[in-house]
Amino acid sequence: MFDYHVHSTFSVDCVIPIEESCRAAIAAGVTEIAFTDHVDHVPADPGYGYYRPDAYLLEIERAQDRFAGALTVLKGAEVDFNQGTTDVVASFIGEYGAAYDFVIGSVHYAPNGTMIFPDYFADRTEDDVFLPYLDQIQQAVESGWFDTIGHLDLPKRYAPKSHRNYDPARYRERLEPIFDAMIERGVAFEINTSGLRQTPKTSMPGPAVVRWYVERGGRIITTGTDSHAAQTVGSGLAKTLDMLTLCGIDTVASFRARRAQHVPIADLQMRGS
Ligand SMILES: [Zn+2]
Ligand SMILES: [Zn+2]
Repeated sequence: MFDYHVHSTFSVDCVIPIEESCRAAIAAGVTEIAFTDHVDHVPADPGYGYYRPDAYLLEIERAQDRFAGALTVLKGAEVDFNQGTTDVVASFIGEYGAAYDFVIGSVHYAPNGTMIFPDYFADRTEDDVFLPYLDQIQQAVESGWFDTIGHLDLPKRYAPKSHRNYDPARYRERLEPIFDAMIERGVAFEINTSGLRQTPKTSMPGPAVVRWYVERGGRIITTGTDSHAAQTVGSGLAKTLDMLTLCGIDTVASFRARRAQHVPIADLQMRGS
């Protein structure tokens, strides 16, 4: 199984060293792990200026040597994308993009610069939150900077009690042009299993969204746990592979040097059983 969304001490919100998560990955049956630490460009973000790409890349090379033969360790990044920071993201990708195997583009901020956390919902309807969020997702896809899009329907994770009747069907029409752009550009989206462990109790996105993407002709999916703790590395991935199969997806993407290869889900399930 592939866990392509794992944080380490290079993220401001994570205290788990790379090696510890590598050991946890092996124990959980993960064969490929991508460490995707936050690359934050919003000056007010707690992680602003925290990420050190050169030190990170060296540390991954050490882990690659150390776990060779037992686990494939990939150089990844979760780059925050929002309308206000496109110039800095462009220069990060220009300088470092080629040094990575795999780059996630994730939208965490609303277009007005507010983090999409529970407070942001207070004086807004679900549409007020989701539609501008999805506009930014579309821009992230069209930027051409990212291999996959992180947690496609993230706002559902932070919706406070007053906003918990999220039904993805409401946004199907808005998602379709996003899927079309993904398919045209070969950009994947991830199934982020952290939603299974947290409030939404469903992955981000869940099966309905995957089905619509497949109906549109989409086939490229990455899988990740968004782990900030060693014990969640690999969690929910087996279930996700079953879910993808039921939705008509038969491969998941594996990345090296920013290029995808399509690995049959049946092969991964065989190895895991
Ligand atoms: Zn994220
Ligand atoms: Zn993350």
